[in-house]
Amino acid sequence: MEYDHILIRFGEISTKGRNRKKFIDQLAYNIKTKLIDFSKLTIEKSRDRIFIKLNGEENIQEITYRIEKVFGIHSFSLAIKTDSELTEIKDGALTALKDLEYIGKTFKISAKRADKQFPLDTNELNHAVGSHILTNTEGLRVDVHNPEINVRVEVRHEATYITCKDIRGAGGLPVGSSGKAMLMLSGGIDSPVAGYLAMKKGLHIEAVHFFSPPFTNERSKQKVIDLTKKLTQYGSKIRLHIVPFTDIQQTIQRQVPENYTLISTRRMMLKITDEIRNRNNGLAIVTGESLGQVASQTLESMYTINQVTSTPVIRPLVSSDKTEIIEISRNIDTYDISILPYEDCCTIFTPASPKTRPKLEKVMHYESFVDFDSLIEEAISKTEIIDYKTEIGIDNSDLGDLF
Ligand code: ATP
Ligand code: MG
Repeated sequence: MEYDHILIRFGEISTKGRNRKKFIDQLAYNIKTKLIDFSKLTIEKSRDRIFIKLNGEENIQEITYRIEKVFGIHSFSLAIKTDSELTEIKDGALTALKDLEYIGKTFKISAKRADKQFPLDTNELNHAVGSHILTNTEGLRVDVHNPEINVRVEVRHEATYITCKDIRGAGGLPVGSSGKAMLMLSGGIDSPVAGYLAMKKGLHIEAVHFFSPPFTNERSKQKVIDLTKKLTQYGSKIRLHIVPFTDIQQTIQRQVPENYTLISTRRMMLKITDEIRNRNNGLAIVTGESLGQVASQTLESMYTINQVTSTPVIRPLVSSDKTEIIEISRNIDTYDISILPYEDCCTIFTPASPKTRPKLEKVMHYESFVDFDSLIEEAISKTEIIDYKTEIGIDNSDLGDLF
């Protein structure tokens, strides 16, 4: 007997009633995609668990590292699978525990019976397995309230799974299970974090970036590409739309009074993103806006910008402080890319004193002198589309000893 499976417990999925099957299928698919190059592994689904059978695969650390980033997982553990027979279960639990550094530690058995036909009830099973362990080990004590090692015994009809250590999963919902949204991705700190949080809630995202050559250069574009690649670690596949925005920005500079250019620019960005969303069957737009952060993010500005669409605009960072956003960006490893110097298409054209309380009627009046629709159509037709996938074999040097 040996650890031969990884047992995966779901997070919020458990509450999702009717959609459960869809969620589980999506989660199993996402896990499979992440582990595609481990050819020995097989994945099994059940109502409340996913099991990865190792089939002799030994690189548990790399597998763990990847599973830790999959949304929709509450926790997971290395497991020993046995027949649902008492003697087998006892041996399995003893083996599982002996594989750890257990001497001097406290433990308890937490039996759970999905198979109610099993002859012993939960308490009896806890006692039987616990006594077997105490008889066959030295230096272990029972502590039912706050044990250092919790030996979990899950008796199911087809088999029993025994685990001793839980690893925390990323939580949230499986990416793709909530539908598709377009992420407005700049090269800044906020929007990649917003994208990460959107994915955490199960959204599959496509990224849209506005690029204004020669005012913004290739390095700025590369930043956005690098950020997109980073985000694929959480959602495996992301399509990036790079929209040429120079003509529109220059037109705005010419036609719109200076203190309204920023608002108009944002409106055009949102309008284009919405059209790309429409053509790609998305149902929402995600931005990195955080209320009050800059001139374009006052409530009045948001209101005026938002009038170009009735599509839901999701702003995961709306109530976050910058320090909180930076903390997440460090954790997800986008911070170092975001702080690289670059020219954003907006910073370059940002007026000295943008309106913080813009009026909708005014901006609509200024825009009415230009045929923006044909400029928008042209920008969309020249949009560059690139697909990115998770890069397998990413750095795992900081992994430590997890099991
Ligand atoms: P970020 O750090 O995400 O750039 P920010 O605090 O700099 O955000 P703004 O520059 O006002 O704020 O941008 C607000 C939001 O508008 C961004 O979070 C992003 O979603 C979107 N956005 C801004 N610039 C671009 C761009 N060039 N391409 C795509 N989306 C953009
Ligand atoms: Mg920005």
